[in-house]
Order: sequence, then structure tokens, then C-alpha cells
Amino acid sequence: MNFTFKSRPPHPYLSAEIEGSFAYRTVKDRMPVILTKVIDFLCRSKNEILQNSSSEAATLEDLKFIIGKLSKLRSEMQTNKTLHQFETCSSHLEDCERWNKELNETKGSAAPCWFNSPWLLVECYMYRVIYAIFEDSLYLKRFDPFSHMKEESFFAQKNIICQLASYTNDLCLQTNHSSSQLQVNFMKLIETCLWGNRNDLSLSAGKTDIEIESRPFFDDIKQLNSQIIVNNINEVWIHMKDVQNYPYTKELSIIMDNSGLEMVADLSLAVYCISHKLFDRVNFYVKKIPWFVSDTTLNDLKWALRYMKNDCTELQHFAEKCLAYLDSNQFQVIEESYFTLPLPYHVMNEEDPQLYKKLCQSQLLIFKGDLNYRKLGGELCWPSFTTFKSFLQGFNPAPLLALRTIKAEIICDVPSSKKEELDLRDKDWMVKGNYGLIQFSK
Ligand SMILES: [Mg+2]
Repeated sequence: MNFTFKSRPPHPYLSAEIEGSFAYRTVKDRMPVILTKVIDFLCRSKNEILQNSSSEAATLEDLKFIIGKLSKLRSEMQTNKTLHQFETCSSHLEDCERWNKELNETKGSAAPCWFNSPWLLVECYMYRVIYAIFEDSLYLKRFDPFSHMKEESFFAQKNIICQLASYTNDLCLQTNHSSSQLQVNFMKLIETCLWGNRNDLSLSAGKTDIEIESRPFFDDIKQLNSQIIVNNINEVWIHMKDVQNYPYTKELSIIMDNSGLEMVADLSLAVYCISHKLFDRVNFYVKKIPWFVSDTTLNDLKWALRYMKNDCTELQHFAEKCLAYLDSNQFQVIEESYFTLPLPYHVMNEEDPQLYKKLCQSQLLIFKGDLNYRKLGGELCWPSFTTFKSFLQGFNPAPLLALRTIKAEIICDVPSSKKEELDLRDKDWMVKGNYGLIQFSK
């Protein structure tokens, strides 16, 4: 694929072409299941959707049209058909030309297919097509077919969300933290952001992890920390001390992953950073369209804040704090098309110089989760011992922190002997989300 190396990429792309790989299992099993879940949901909720619409008859036609198109998409995927170009005039997103360019350039002259193209391209493509199918309807143009799963997952994790909100509220009440207290709290919240990433509805194909509900969250984190296989947290704190001496507006940018618990963990870190003046502003980069089932959109954030504002006291206080910071622009929620393109990050400077420049202004960038990690590494089969710097291929617009629980077969900074040991213990250790990475590059 021409993702854009002027010459050949230094390693092969992850792809469903490699039978038995996680990419293969994703395209063969997980992605069709996600489509089936959406179709089943639309069938099951037909009456409710119709009741909420301004024209029942037209919406019923929409539903038939959407279900037909989704079924066709699933069958094309399962029979390894080619990926189609997008109709450039039909979307408000204005990303179709960029998509088509990428689809054209993939694999030289042969048309890209579901099982023969880079995994990043086909997985992103599925979500972009789902969006296009809804956008082509009359009354369901902005319908988020994953919102019910995201809301269910929020409710399933509510116990932990409350613990986290109340912990953050308490931290905000205490003023004048000493440097060592700031360090301890900041690090604990970074770890919370990391493990919040464990829950991912695209990994579980929409199934909510009920088990997580019963565990005391911070005890769980202590135990999980032994499963962080690369941990640069001390370097991050050393950098944070420099940030405190920065004479201008200090900005943190979080390139978010999932909604629900993970989003609340990101908000907790941000609330703490603003209230204790570690940063003056926090930018939250969300997805512009429904993405990878559970990724955070602006609507998810608004929904969660509205919900929390009307719930128990802990959640109310927490939501009010977030809303106040949004009002004062100390929190900014930003939608950028780049994050729903199938492009890796090392070409951002060339492909979207404006976004790149915006990121350059932050004193810390936090890239959350697996998809961001795959894009940081250009989705290549890197040898595990590759340094994080080489992995980034020059992308370092500002000091950059990757927080990720491992759910895809891509990694760096891990010695071969360590990888072999983990492979022996469990051949699927890289796709279960049980191990974490805190990787920093300045
Ligand atoms: Mg996600």
C-alpha cells in the first residue's frame, strides 16, 4: 500500500492475508459479527426507531434500505470482494477523495480486497461504509448504530465510573499538593487511563464485560500494573517537571479511544491536570463519525455528561466540573477528519499540515489505545525490539505518550527474549488486552 512510503515500507503490513493472524481472525470473524449485531439491533428496535421519527413510512423504507446494504457489505466481506470507491458528492464529510486516492493506490494496479489489503485500510473502510450507508438514507443520516452498545457498556461499568468520579472529586478538594503528591496522583491517573483502555467493544464485538463490574477498580489497577511490559512513566514525570516551567499556555492533547469508562478516565486525568495547574488547557480529539464500535464521539461525551449531571452526587459533581471547564474553554473537544482516515501518523505532516501544526503546540500528546498505536507504527510487522523512535518514523510533533492495552499484533521496545517468554506462556497474549504499554518519546 502506498500509505505513504516513497519507497517500499521497511516491513510488511499487518493484513488478513496472513492466515491465523489476528488481522485474519478480525476480518473473518469479528467484523462480520459486528455487522450482524447492527442488523439485529435495527430489526429488533424497528418500532422504537419508527416512533421517534417524523415520517414512519419513509423511515421504514430507510431501515429496509440500510439493512439490505449492511447485509450486502457483510457478504462482500465474507467472499473477499473488492473494496468500492466512495461517491464523492454524496457525503458531507469531504473525505471521499482522500479515501478513493488511498483505495486506488493500494496494491498497485490490483483492486484492494477484504483479505488482501492492509488491515488498517479494510477495518477503517468498514466503519466508513457503515456511515455512508446511513448517510444515504433520508431520515437516519446521523444515526449512530453503536450508541446503544456504548450506553449499555457505560451502565455496566457505572460502579467503577462512580469510584473514579468520587476519587477525582476528592483530589480536587485538596489544594496545594506537594510535588511528590502531584507525581503520585498524576501517575495513578495515567495508569487509570491506560487500564480504562482495556474495555473495547470492537474487540468483544459489542459484548459488555460484566465481570469487570464486581471488582474494586483501584485494587484491580495495582494488580494489573505488573502486566505493563514497557513502562516509561518516570520519563513522563521528568518531562512534566519541565512543562511546569513553560512560560506560555500549557496544553495537553488526548487523542481519545473508547467512550464509557475509558472516556471518564481521560476526563479524570484532565480535571486533575487543570485543577492542579499541571496544564492550562486540555484538548480532547474525538472521532467525527461512529467508529470501531466504542470510540468516543462528541455525542457520546455530551450524552455521558448529561447523564452524570442527573445522577448520584459524585457523578453530578464530576460532570459539573467538566462542564465548567468546557464553558471556560479549558477543555476543548475537537473533531478532525484525519482520525477516521486509514492513514498512519508518520505522513500527517504531509497529508494534514494544519493538524500537525496544531499538535505541535501541545506540551504533551497522549495517544490512547490500539488503533492509534497501529497508526503510530504505520501498521507494520515491526520486530518487537524496534525502538519506539524508529517505530514512530519521525512522527513526534510534541512529546508523545502512547497508552495502550495490547489488542493487536504490533509492538516495539520489547526484547526478543521477553516476547518469546510471553509467547510461550500464552500464544494469544497480544490480542487479549491483558498487557499494557506506557511508551514515551520526547
Ligand atoms: Mg476503540
